[in-house]
Amino acid sequence: MVMPTPETYENALSHVRTFSSPSELRITDIRFADIAGAPMHCSLVKVYTNQGLVGFGEVRDGADKAYALLLKSRLLGENPCQIDKLFRRIKQFGGHARQGGGVSGIEVALWDLAGKAYGVPVYQMLGGKFRDRIRMYCDTDVSGKDTGTRMGHALKERMEKGYTFLKMDLGIQQLLHEPGALSAPLGFLEEMAERSKAWYESRRNGALSDLERRTLRSRHYDIFNIAHPFTGIHVTDKGLDLLEQYVAEVRAVIGPEVPLAIDHFGHIGLEDCIKLGRRIDKYHLAWMEDMIPWQYTEQYARLSRAVTTPICTGEDIYLKENFRPLLEAGGVSVIHPDVLTAGGILETKKIGDMAQEYGVAMAIHMAESPIGCLAAVHAAAATENFLALEYHSVDIEWWDDMIVGKLPKPLVENGFITVPDAPGLGIEELNDEVIARHLHPDIPGLWEPTDDWNDYWSNDRLWS
Ligand SMILES: [Mg+2]
Repeated sequence: MVMPTPETYENALSHVRTFSSPSELRITDIRFADIAGAPMHCSLVKVYTNQGLVGFGEVRDGADKAYALLLKSRLLGENPCQIDKLFRRIKQFGGHARQGGGVSGIEVALWDLAGKAYGVPVYQMLGGKFRDRIRMYCDTDVSGKDTGTRMGHALKERMEKGYTFLKMDLGIQQLLHEPGALSAPLGFLEEMAERSKAWYESRRNGALSDLERRTLRSRHYDIFNIAHPFTGIHVTDKGLDLLEQYVAEVRAVIGPEVPLAIDHFGHIGLEDCIKLGRRIDKYHLAWMEDMIPWQYTEQYARLSRAVTTPICTGEDIYLKENFRPLLEAGGVSVIHPDVLTAGGILETKKIGDMAQEYGVAMAIHMAESPIGCLAAVHAAAATENFLALEYHSVDIEWWDDMIVGKLPKPLVENGFITVPDAPGLGIEELNDEVIARHLHPDIPGLWEPTDDWNDYWSNDRLWS
């Protein structure tokens, strides 16, 4: 037997991956970078370890990283491969919509670390994949005057790029400037428009005091957070005619065959949703999304029975247990969790599997960076009833420059993402140069220390 020379021994040692000791892996730090224009604000997460291995996660689009920061003291020193144990420890600190962003974003980083430590892709740890490519569905806006024909052409362009599943907005925002299309308490719609204008203009007005700016933001929040049943807004017959005509024009351009989902109807009550749904049922839409707040289980059941278009909700629901009432009531035909709100990758798969038992399909909401996107790709690959994954960033050229790895470039090719086989999410590195160019103007700093959060603690137990 030939013994290696010290030189070759050193050489060999330099190629040994120290993180091949997963049982010794420990979390040592958690840091963030906030980017803007992707197209949303995204807070990217790095979870560091004692073996040089770094896991990538992301807080839900539009959420503050504080939701993740407060988890740091509960995770330092722990083995990130014990994903379910750590998830159960931190899940009490998550909530619906953006409040689920911290717990979910950290859970994603733990899967990335476990995959990198053991050398397997995340989908494999979930039980393997049902498909090699993930169908992306493409959200689309129009520039200039918003007409059905223009929207049809914008959607047609997506189809020419290979997209096989589409989504557009349809709702009262398209009727605001049409006389006689909406009925509401007199002056209410004008007040909404004024408060919105005042808040958006205040952000550019350097002469305002902090208190004045805060007050404008709060008054804007108040009026736009009046839930659908309480606004008193109704769509008139003329309004219904216009919305129906819009969908007819879109279908005339894109044809009858491609699936088309519809979102953002505006804050109208159940009865108006039913009237609108019945008008557009004949255009065989893929689904109508978030017509009313997801919490109104019985209203969802009534809506689902009253129309033939599939009813969909879920992007603001945290945890599997909160999807169950809608499924039990027969309120939805499609569920639409966001991995970064629902509780992360494993919770999303569990939600999909539960929905499957009720004969309900799972689409996935996603408006985030390639980190959140690939987290969704692994969950989608490993869930049988998956339908399509949302994609908001077709027009953001630098979107997939943020990540480095053995991944297709562009990440989305002809409307699909190929499920990566590399360890973890499949991302080797983040491209700090690209991220630095797109930092959020109000939230500067790239992976800066977060030591202030190392010892945050309270007696957090949900029972005595
Ligand atoms: Mg939506």
